[in-house]
Amino acid sequence: MSRLDIKTDDQVKAVVEDLYHDLERRVASSPPGQCPVDMAAAFLKLCHAQTCGKCVPCRIGLGQIVNLIDDLMELGEDTSIETVTLIENTAEAIRDSADCAIGTEAAEMILRGLKSFGDDYEEHALRKRCTEEIRNDKAPVPCVSKCPAEVDIPGYIALVLHGRYDDAIKVIRKDNPFPHVCGLICEHPCEDRCRRNLIDAPINIRAMKRYAVDNCSDVVPIPDKLDDTGKRIAIIGGGPSGLTAAYYLALMGHKPKIFEKRQQLGGMLRYGIPNYRLPRENLQWDIDSILSSGVEVELNYDVNDEEKIKNLRDEFDAVYISIGAHTFKQLGIEGENARGVIPAVAMLRDIGDEHKPDFKDKAVVVVGGGNVAMDVARTAKRLGASSVTIVYRRRRADMTALDEEIEGAVAEGCELDELKAPVRVETDDKGFVKALWVKPQMAGEYKAGRPKPINAKADEQSIPCDIIISAIGQNIEYEMFEKYGVPVVWGSLKTESSSAVEDREGVYAGGDCVTGPSTVIKAIAAGKVAAANIDNYLGYDHEIKTDVEIPYAENVDKKPCGRAEIRLRYATRRGEDFDGIECNISDEEALQEAGRCLRCDHFGLGSFRGGRLEKW
Ligand SMILES: Cc1cc2nc3c(=O)[nH]c(=O)nc-3n(C[C@H](O)[C@H](O)[C@H](O)COP(=O)(O)OP(=O)(O)OC[C@H]3O[C@@H](n4cnc5c(N)ncnc54)[C@H](O)[C@@H]3O)c2cc1C
Ligand code: SF4
Ligand code: SF4
Repeated sequence: MSRLDIKTDDQVKAVVEDLYHDLERRVASSPPGQCPVDMAAAFLKLCHAQTCGKCVPCRIGLGQIVNLIDDLMELGEDTSIETVTLIENTAEAIRDSADCAIGTEAAEMILRGLKSFGDDYEEHALRKRCTEEIRNDKAPVPCVSKCPAEVDIPGYIALVLHGRYDDAIKVIRKDNPFPHVCGLICEHPCEDRCRRNLIDAPINIRAMKRYAVDNCSDVVPIPDKLDDTGKRIAIIGGGPSGLTAAYYLALMGHKPKIFEKRQQLGGMLRYGIPNYRLPRENLQWDIDSILSSGVEVELNYDVNDEEKIKNLRDEFDAVYISIGAHTFKQLGIEGENARGVIPAVAMLRDIGDEHKPDFKDKAVVVVGGGNVAMDVARTAKRLGASSVTIVYRRRRADMTALDEEIEGAVAEGCELDELKAPVRVETDDKGFVKALWVKPQMAGEYKAGRPKPINAKADEQSIPCDIIISAIGQNIEYEMFEKYGVPVVWGSLKTESSSAVEDREGVYAGGDCVTGPSTVIKAIAAGKVAAANIDNYLGYDHEIKTDVEIPYAENVDKKPCGRAEIRLRYATRRGEDFDGIECNISDEEALQEAGRCLRCDHFGLGSFRGGRLEKW
């Protein structure tokens, strides 16, 4: 026997590695609507199998909790609320006495669960069943329930597979009147839990939408409007949320009128997201079809005081507030009012009105780590900046921007300067920006799910530059709405889940002004919810429906197969113009991708219980 051996993976290890990968995929595709107690028990068993077993609390204690949860999940006879208390006490004891973080973390996981879904534990302890909410989950198709607007995804993918692109658009529009916009820039939460993950990788749902819009007719007619009700609804703000509400209210036979502060409709889709990600003609295609429903629009109308809001409420039968989040957060550092410090939202707004700043040969620093920071950095490059440096006080891994956005910015030549906190702006004698001074940081303890940056023992550094763009967040102009009587919490308008404003009858609000800066599909979903509830408030129960028949679900291809990805134009070329950067998948890729869909509306766990929702 040799003294030392080179380690090679044996057969068993290789298979276990594969099992881990399979498990990762299965965890990634755990659909919403599963029993959280069941899931917690499964994770706990995994944690228990991973402990070293050297300390009693972890080895014995975790095993005890596994047994207690098994008892709750029907294996044991006598369970009561005492069982839940015993689980909690045992978890606390493990957390406080386990030798290492492995045991502590496992116990913390159980305690977190008890705190957030204690009702589910209680229901199992007392009645040996899941809560009513889980039993009656109405949208169990994973992708559909993860799309905030609940678009009929398997339905439109099946239509793409059959080459019925106009019908696919009609099915999407039943729940979301922005198929073109969402085909390009939706953050696609629907893909997170796609069950195709169990086999290989999630379906490229966004690309399927984009493929449908790229191949449909120039004009896909909207449904016929229902009979005129004569009811008038004022919509304050013509972004995606206001336009969505207006579209559905118009289809229901009402008369919505949008009051928009700016020269054009679209909100942040026009005055935020750059053309290279969302070409304006594509945005206009969706807006034109929405307006074809007969929505009235008044542009350049700023609802800027409480008297105007009150007048609108008096004049109209209901009001929907969807003003978005358009003011910027201050950097809060010395010198931030210097010439050459620009808020990201102001810069993007000017570009939306075709006023492009000239950054030729300028050194630009962007402060922030979100999608907006990436958008302005990539825009600055296209405007001729000699260099673009993105300064962020945390690590790249902690950035809130999507990975693809960060990668896109880097590929186009932007530098990332992580773990640097801005401390002051240095100016020349004319008051122009000369440099941004930063304090090096290091990643500290976790707070709210990510490490908190703390000052490192290092000297402040200067980053010479001509322009500083601050992209650290947006605020909501809530003051006049608050004066009018809309409750405000942490700077956002507060509503019921129906989007109704408490104590202000007939007034509704939704989109970014309620959630804070978020995503287009959430704003669209809010507009849809508001339209349905305003319709009810006005005394109606109109249905939005489609008469498109969805193709029958046939046996799907069960073999693992690669996911078709959208490709981008070459970074060196796309970084020089504002043309769209994405190249869609090819015809054969689209066909293969659509064929990968498991049709969970029909097969398996996620079938539409009670049938497909053809109307809402
Ligand atoms: C740079 C940037 C990039 C983004 N990228 C993405 C992305 O890739 N994917 C994604 O899903 N989301 C993205 N978002 C977020 C998305 O654009 C927003 O979540 C969405 O537009 C919010 O819709 P909304 O209708 O609530 O508000 P907005 O789109 O902000 O629309 C509000 C409208 O109200 C108008 N208004 C405001 N005040 C008044 C008033 N007093 N009187 C009359 N009108 C008023 C505004 O002019 C505006 O037209 C991005 C946002 C930004 C800023
Ligand atoms: S709108 Fe977005 S979340 Fe909904 S199905 Fe389309 S890509 Fe998915
Ligand atoms: S396989 Fe198809 S129906 Fe099932 S979750 Fe994925 S996209 Fe939705």
